[in-house]
Amino acid sequence: MDQAERLLRPLAGQVALVTGGSSGIGAGVVQALAAAGAAVAVNYASHREAAEEAARRIEAAGGRAIAVGADVAEEAAVDAMVAQVTERFGRLDILVANSGLQRDAAFRDMSLADWRKVIDVNLTGQFLCCRAALRRFLAQEERPDLSRARGKIICMSSVHEVIPWAGHANYAASKGGIMLMMKSLAQEVAPQRIRVNAIAPGAIRTPINREAWETKEAERRLLELIPYGRVGEPEDIAAAAVWLASDASDYVTGTTLFVDGGMTLYPGFADNG
Ligand code: NAD
Repeated sequence: MDQAERLLRPLAGQVALVTGGSSGIGAGVVQALAAAGAAVAVNYASHREAAEEAARRIEAAGGRAIAVGADVAEEAAVDAMVAQVTERFGRLDILVANSGLQRDAAFRDMSLADWRKVIDVNLTGQFLCCRAALRRFLAQEERPDLSRARGKIICMSSVHEVIPWAGHANYAASKGGIMLMMKSLAQEVAPQRIRVNAIAPGAIRTPINREAWETKEAERRLLELIPYGRVGEPEDIAAAAVWLASDASDYVTGTTLFVDGGMTLYPGFADNG
């Protein structure tokens, strides 16, 4: 591949798995990785048709894609999913562990079931996906012609890995957990040239936070938290994922890339110095 082609399609020949790829941020990441040349496995938990449609769109545009169902909180299902991807495309080079959900409640009212559900999907789900991907990276033939790193993992975190969030303690705990899981794993596998990073989105317009942007009044209140003055779109996160998956970020590991329009800049202090 010559340099011009590598710039246009930096992930050509590589295989990516995106969990929760049938909606929101995951769907944006799927399309961007495919446009960058990767074959993409679109994981879904329940939205099978949306995942299959995304895969069809990629194939119709000349790319390679499949839809793969799995509950990321289920160990056997995750291992089977990675085996299915490997069987179809021959290898795995990139994992975007993106699946996540919220079950919001005031702390005193939060049920154990809602605590466990969020930790199971958001944190244990990422652990299981990272472990399965890591095992695959270590088992397969190295392809330095495709990528300098032996494998790349991108964990979808949140600004709530650092911003406390009243009424969402389970969610914030899961994202804080992702941060240190990601860094510990990055430290452990850097000698094998496996890169592990996270993206911390701010407020992105997706189904998970519809009530925060759906009405004009809700959006106005949300914008008070965003110095850059706009709500983010899945494409903002997708561009960061392509960069973190490509050789352009080859010296980057163990870091969280905040893509948040300045939400973590303590905007409440802007005129109160
Ligand atoms: P979304 O609800 O559209 O996407 C979440 C995806 O996770 C869905 O496709 C859902 O089917 C999938 N999922 C849920 N449970 C699953 C399970 N058990 N197994 C497999 N998949 C499962 O919302 P989104 O905003 O696109 O969220 C994607 C990620 O981005 C999440 O991890 C979320 O915490 C994170 N995030 C989103 C925002 C935002 O503002 N939208 C901000 C920060 C972080």
